[in-house]
Amino acid sequence: MERKLASIVTIDDLQPIVDADQIEVATVKGWKLVVKKGEFRINDHAVYCEIDSFLPVIEKFEFLRKTSYRKMAGQEGFRLKTIRLRGQVSQGLLLPISILEGYNYELGENVAERLGIVKYEPPMPAELAGVAKGNFPSFIFKTDEERIQNLTKEYESFKQHTFYVTEKLDGSSATFYLNEGIFGVCSRNLDLQESENNSFWQVARELDLEKKLTSLGKNLALQGELIGEGIQSNPYVVKGQVVRFFNVFDIDTQTYLPLPAFREIMESLDLQHVPILDESFKLPETTDALLALAEGTSVLSSAEREGIVIRSIDRQISFKVISNKFLLKERN
Ligand code: ATP
Ligand code: MN
Ligand code: MN
Repeated sequence: MERKLASIVTIDDLQPIVDADQIEVATVKGWKLVVKKGEFRINDHAVYCEIDSFLPVIEKFEFLRKTSYRKMAGQEGFRLKTIRLRGQVSQGLLLPISILEGYNYELGENVAERLGIVKYEPPMPAELAGVAKGNFPSFIFKTDEERIQNLTKEYESFKQHTFYVTEKLDGSSATFYLNEGIFGVCSRNLDLQESENNSFWQVARELDLEKKLTSLGKNLALQGELIGEGIQSNPYVVKGQVVRFFNVFDIDTQTYLPLPAFREIMESLDLQHVPILDESFKLPETTDALLALAEGTSVLSSAEREGIVIRSIDRQISFKVISNKFLLKERN
């Protein structure tokens, strides 16, 4: 699913910030952000740009230069990231509807392209980028998780479910598949050519994944996070590189295996999964309370953890809760 980096929203709430008379805090879905006092009213429509938006260098965004100027692959732009202002975590940017210059919008509409906004992607080291053999296979879903801040409408109904919670690892997404006898290795978006130096292929050979998948006699994909040296400053202090799995996908039925079957396969193939933090988790009252629970120390090292991934036991519901504490420390 493509992220809606900039969309038309209604402002759900506006509240004062203690000891600040120029600014206030706006609520948009599950997001909170600092705005200039009086610029918006509750129920106003506005354009909301999420964190990781990369805005073009044009006159109407020049006010971002001082805080947000960045280059991405040689291109100039303004990058939105999580900040804290007067003790208030602020995520994203609200723009008045007038920025659309009279365009006849619909609520919820994605206006990123119209505004020239793309996603900020930090550069990928060459050993991870690799050389493409093809696009990501159409018979497997890409690894992706929606953010809790965009699921506030669904949150109440989620509460009746029981979930399992895993630590979200900050590495690089890896997919290994065996389909009709063909073994393949993929990064987040590409099917990769085998090579000596590519990290994903190196791990596939080290773990003997082709043989292991073949031994199961089914069309399956294993998906996990590659972590270790050369990946995101190696917060887990891993020697070399390892992969921690979070999905087993049955290609024939186009379904993910539920937790018990997933674990069985991990054990029988002697593979490691992501840390499981809780297996009978009930959601707290509010998404804000859940965001607080996402903060903590990694199971793998003393690093601040990136967050948690929450899934219903049957694997039908799945979303991520990124730690704001982690985001505030992010250097990239
Ligand atoms: P976004 O699209 O939100 O900008 P992104 O898609 O690049 O971000 P992440 O924010 O890292 O990726 O969130 C989804 C990714 O989290 C998955 O693609 C997967 O690689 C990774 N991940 C790490 N740990 C886990 C875990 N425990 N369970 C599921 N996915 C995990
Ligand atoms: Mn995503
Ligand atoms: Mn990630």
